[in-house]
Amino acid sequence: MKVQVIGNGNITSNNFNASFLINDKILIDTPPGMLKELKKLNKNLDEIKVIVITHLHGDHYFDLPFIILNEYARKREEKLIIIGPKDLKKSLEKLTKLAFYNRLNKYIANLDITFLDAQTVQNNMVEDDLYLSSIKLVHGEVKFNYGYIFKTKDKALGITGDTEMCPGLTYMLKKVNYILINVNDKKGEHLDLSRFKELAKTYQINYIPVHFPDEIEAELIKLKNVKVINPGEQFFI
Ligand SMILES: [Zn+2]
Ligand SMILES: [Zn+2]
Repeated sequence: MKVQVIGNGNITSNNFNASFLINDKILIDTPPGMLKELKKLNKNLDEIKVIVITHLHGDHYFDLPFIILNEYARKREEKLIIIGPKDLKKSLEKLTKLAFYNRLNKYIANLDITFLDAQTVQNNMVEDDLYLSSIKLVHGEVKFNYGYIFKTKDKALGITGDTEMCPGLTYMLKKVNYILINVNDKKGEHLDLSRFKELAKTYQINYIPVHFPDEIEAELIKLKNVKVINPGEQFFI
């Protein structure tokens, strides 16, 4: 499995917001500016078959209308599956109404798009030998908030999206070899640095911290089992 980090930052950091690309085909989250980031990295939008959204905070999906518009403009013929919280399509329509009046419906009607409720995605084959499951995670008051596990024959990658300490996160840590995990400098709706350090000692897996503020990067780099992967870089599992 090839994992490319498109962004590893949060709203305030210098780096692009947390978002990832698996095997050049599966996009995880679409923060504002995502379409341009993909173009800068010379990614072929034809190749993207699945878009996965963790939750409906703006820093995780506000570029989705522009990606859909781009696909409409270039007359995409390939099927596109969009997986996310069950109210994603409704929110997307509202968002597009604000941005472009009400043209999204026309774009969607002309494209082959299937929306899937993340809740129902359990061991779905998204590519040959690659299976996807959603995990419900806790993030402040967000009602539908998901992490995801990508599984091959012998390896598993977890992606937390935004989460605080919760049973779903513990479950993921026990199931995966690698995890893209949100880390913050303070307690709240994210995993804070001190709790993250405890977890990295308890569960001996490979951690790639993301969605972190610039101030804690130097400290993250020093930790065992932890590797900061910069935007644009990729790694293989
Ligand atoms: Zn969030
Ligand atoms: Zn966020």
